[in-house]
Amino acid sequence: MIIENAAPAREERLKAGIAFCGTCAQLQNRLGQKDNGCLYAVNRSFSQAHGCQFTLSLGILNTLRNAVVIMHGPVGCGFCSTANIGTNKNFKKLRDPSAGGIIWLSTNLDESDVIEGGEKKLRAAVLYADREFRPEAIVVASSCVPALIGDDVDSILENLERETAAELVPVNCEGFKTKLMATAYDAVYNGVLKKLTKYRERNVYLTESELSGKLWEYERERTVNVFNVGSMSRADELEIKRLLSALELKVNFLPCFSRPDDFRAALDAALNISVCGTHDDYYLKYIHKEFNIPYVIDTMPIGKKATARWLLKIAEHFGQVERARLLIQKEEAELEQALESYREILKGKRVYVSGGEVRIFVTAEVLTDLGMEIAGFKGHHIDEFVRPVMEGLPDIDDIYINIASQHPFEQVNIVKRLNPDLLVIHTGSGNITAKHGLPVLPLFGPGYNYMGYSGVFEIARRLRRIITNNQFNRNMQKYRPAPYRSEWYAKEPSAYIKDTGTK
Ligand code: SF4
Repeated sequence: MIIENAAPAREERLKAGIAFCGTCAQLQNRLGQKDNGCLYAVNRSFSQAHGCQFTLSLGILNTLRNAVVIMHGPVGCGFCSTANIGTNKNFKKLRDPSAGGIIWLSTNLDESDVIEGGEKKLRAAVLYADREFRPEAIVVASSCVPALIGDDVDSILENLERETAAELVPVNCEGFKTKLMATAYDAVYNGVLKKLTKYRERNVYLTESELSGKLWEYERERTVNVFNVGSMSRADELEIKRLLSALELKVNFLPCFSRPDDFRAALDAALNISVCGTHDDYYLKYIHKEFNIPYVIDTMPIGKKATARWLLKIAEHFGQVERARLLIQKEEAELEQALESYREILKGKRVYVSGGEVRIFVTAEVLTDLGMEIAGFKGHHIDEFVRPVMEGLPDIDDIYINIASQHPFEQVNIVKRLNPDLLVIHTGSGNITAKHGLPVLPLFGPGYNYMGYSGVFEIARRLRRIITNNQFNRNMQKYRPAPYRSEWYAKEPSAYIKDTGTK
């Protein structure tokens, strides 16, 4: 199977949609139609800035251990790398106490490079990185400029390979090529497939006994790879590991925080498991075809119902369904007892949930299970992977849903109309809406636990805290001006969507 030079944009590959205002029933109706009811053709006549796939790609690449990341482009494109220097080092150390922090370089392309080409600077940066840091791999992430001026990064790196000890990995993640940030997952996997996914034969020693060969084979048959592209904290990983270990499975986590060589080792596994349909299909389908490793892409193990479904899918593959059922029963009973004191405070509170398409719906299941009501949803984008998750949620037909990557102007308008008691939202996209005085629970935080059974308890515990102590947001409302003029709040939130998608 041929690996494409660059991963295609998700608008094209999955016919994903980025603009919609309507009810969940209307959205499901459009999703059920051929080509997603042309949802991917719906757009806005006015758009606010939103994240680009280059920055999300860096979010994944910067976590790699024993690697240097070269940002090939103007220095401003990599501003996000400066923001996570400190946390990134600490999160790496949670996986490996001897791990160092991020090492990134920028080729700092300027006006003259746009005329002369960026090859000279890229060559110099790669050779410097190899000699100075001696990494296992050097990853070159391309921003818009090299693509616009025609730098052939793949060929430049191929020619340099004879001069470097490190593996050179091109990641073509130019921001202008897609409006869907999630294309970044495919772009990173595309680079990994090109250079790091190579099968290596196991070393068999002359003195090796037949038993140790059999033990190796036994372990391989019980090894699973769980794919984390930045949606799992270390606490999540430990919870997932705890649950899968109860089914006697050995767990590897990839690609975030792994070493380049781990991608080769991961080919000695019995099953690849995604924790979110939106993340990994590009990679896992390729590995299945080329290396015959089956995969599970289903729901996200957040909340009792989704965690049980996810575990049973995995257990089915290993013929361990009865064992998994017993585990689920025991975990749910313990959790129920632990949640008792939280239910009274959370009951009846109305929540607006915003974030990735799969995550918002599984999180909604946790919230409704705790007795809360869903006031509305917002998803970054919409594609086929959300269907099984939406279908599993009862009573969402009339709930309002907005599909928008960022676009806080639509979000504030909707939140004002729906008037929820709190927001569950990504930290970066909630700051403007939070000026309405509502308490905010981050939909994800790299230091918190959301997944598995302990994740449900953590969500309940943190919800109680923010609901009982929301002085910070109330003060923001009191002392900060409303972010938009009253004229905008009088307009329909879908005013700039060219097709409201409500057919
Ligand atoms: S859209 Fe292009 S120019 Fe802008 S930050 Fe992303 S990669 Fe850089």
